[in-house]
Amino acid sequence: MVLRAAGRPLEPAELPDPVPGPGEVPVRVAACGVCRTDLHIVDGELTEPNLPLVPGHQIVGTVIADGERFREGERIGIPWLGKTCGRCRYCLSGRENLCDSPTFTGYDRDGGYAELTLAVEQYAFPVPPGLSDLEAAPLLCAGLIGYRALRMTGDAERLGLYGFGAAAHLICQVARSEGRRVFAFTRAGDEDSQRFARELGAEWAGDALGPAPEELDAAILFAPVGEHVPAALRATAKGGVVVCAGIHMSDIPSFPYELLWGERSVRSVANLTRRDGEEFLALAPTVPVRAITTEYPLERANEALDDLRAGRIEGSAVLSVL
Ligand SMILES: [Zn+2]
Ligand SMILES: [Zn+2]
Repeated sequence: MVLRAAGRPLEPAELPDPVPGPGEVPVRVAACGVCRTDLHIVDGELTEPNLPLVPGHQIVGTVIADGERFREGERIGIPWLGKTCGRCRYCLSGRENLCDSPTFTGYDRDGGYAELTLAVEQYAFPVPPGLSDLEAAPLLCAGLIGYRALRMTGDAERLGLYGFGAAAHLICQVARSEGRRVFAFTRAGDEDSQRFARELGAEWAGDALGPAPEELDAAILFAPVGEHVPAALRATAKGGVVVCAGIHMSDIPSFPYELLWGERSVRSVANLTRRDGEEFLALAPTVPVRAITTEYPLERANEALDDLRAGRIEGSAVLSVL
């Protein structure tokens, strides 16, 4: 499924089989998670996709020819971080997520809304056994980046999750297993999401712009809604952090300094490092993190994107490729 121009639906296309370059292996895609970032690319909010583009960066598939690291038949996962330069000050200081010249899967290079793709071996992960392809796919971005955001909250006990979609439903499970208390903030009146959050262990779920039931120690913002920043600061105790986990967000309205005072902070989380991936994929089966998925066949990718845009997905949308 190919994006030819922003703002247009993806088009089915027959492309030549991708040919691996040095350090790459060819992969037969089994499943590819649909991420909000894909929506930002398709809708033109991320402005520099390498068009025409095969989107998708939560890829689970099988290696179909031996590489240097992976062998034919191995199941691997391909994340958003496709490749980094290895030479810039960020790469050299353990912050490859901030690389000055990164290559992102399903943005700079073709991704997993396809039957075949390529993996840069050193940036792919073995997928833990015991998870189906559909269950594993959402771990590769929603899970990984959610996990990085969760770590930025330190040992916050009372955790607010703003937007209860793919990432929050996974990270809620991790947070609960660590003994944290979870409060889910959704669109006003979104009773389905609120019920879903309670089922996954949130002790309270309610309106993101309304009052919180008690002070939070930290908040993670997954919904791309700038109004949530002052709302979360208002809900957060002294010394607390508000972590913005999305790659794009509507403008943040101005707010009184009083909301930030008291050593509160606001920060973003950008991309992932390979270490985040290794840590999270080792942790996930021990929780265990269970992805709730809605499956779409590959050719219905546009419908999955529309459902995500409209907030109709419970958990994660995943494309299955047969
Ligand atoms: Zn770099
Ligand atoms: Zn993503």
